Amino acid sequence: MRTFILITTFLLLSCNNKKSGYFSAISENDIKLETPKEGEWLYEHKEKGQSFEEYKNSHPIRPTANKAVIYLMPIGDFTEPQQKILNLTREYVEIFFQQKTVLLKAVSDKTVPFRQREDGNIQLLAPYVLDSLLIGKTPDDGIALLAISAKDLYPKSDWNYVFGLASYVKRVGVSSIYRLQDTRRLINVASHEIGHMMSLHHCTFAKCTMNGSNGLAETDAAPNRLCSACQQKLYWNFTYDNRKRLKELMDFCKENALEKDYDILKLDYEKDRPSEFIRRS
Ligand SMILES: [Zn+2]
Ligand SMILES: [Zn+2]
Repeated sequence: MRTFILITTFLLLSCNNKKSGYFSAISENDIKLETPKEGEWLYEHKEKGQSFEEYKNSHPIRPTANKAVIYLMPIGDFTEPQQKILNLTREYVEIFFQQKTVLLKAVSDKTVPFRQREDGNIQLLAPYVLDSLLIGKTPDDGIALLAISAKDLYPKSDWNYVFGLASYVKRVGVSSIYRLQDTRRLINVASHEIGHMMSLHHCTFAKCTMNGSNGLAETDAAPNRLCSACQQKLYWNFTYDNRKRLKELMDFCKENALEKDYDILKLDYEKDRPSEFIRRS
């Protein structure tokens, strides 16, 4: 009996070590955040970050046999190049979360309240999109629903614009292609917002997709890579093959000329290389 318990404990420890091995290996590639400068997200929002334990204790939504699909819902009219970016975003989100992702047919934005800026730019009221178009509309097998608007968004009258808005509790969110217009930015914002729906808070540990952003400069500085702490949370929730995920992300970046992101992901892939392939000098 005692032997059995010992063996069981040993096996459990071995499994744990194996998991933590990947995260501790790639943690060497985490790049610490610099002291926030005026105008940056962390300068204006004093966030503490969310530990792995805090994440687990927040009881995030987890996929089940009947509820595991991520839905993307385009809102408004999209040009052909924008439609291509939407298709690529679907592909990327599916790889990023290792969960089936479906791009729904576009719906009209005609019922959404809007305002027109002096330059003629029409902006939709983002909280209305959440409340009226999205909450309660997630298909039965959906774990999250992210709308992507063709028009620009604003959250309230005293804000100029917003890239995205998501509800942690209802697991719906809205983003816009208007200010992004580029695959790299849209996949960054979409995975960030869906991350929120999976209860990931803003990351303050390292450069990471889950860093808060006050504008394009910060979004462009955020890598399309989760830091080791955020990857550990996602893995705990969704349980996938880390190496397969990395390889698929790298292939996506290569096919879409996202060289900077490819190079960053490759560092993780090389750190996690099985020991027999490491050439010793
Ligand atoms: Zn955010
Ligand atoms: Zn992170």
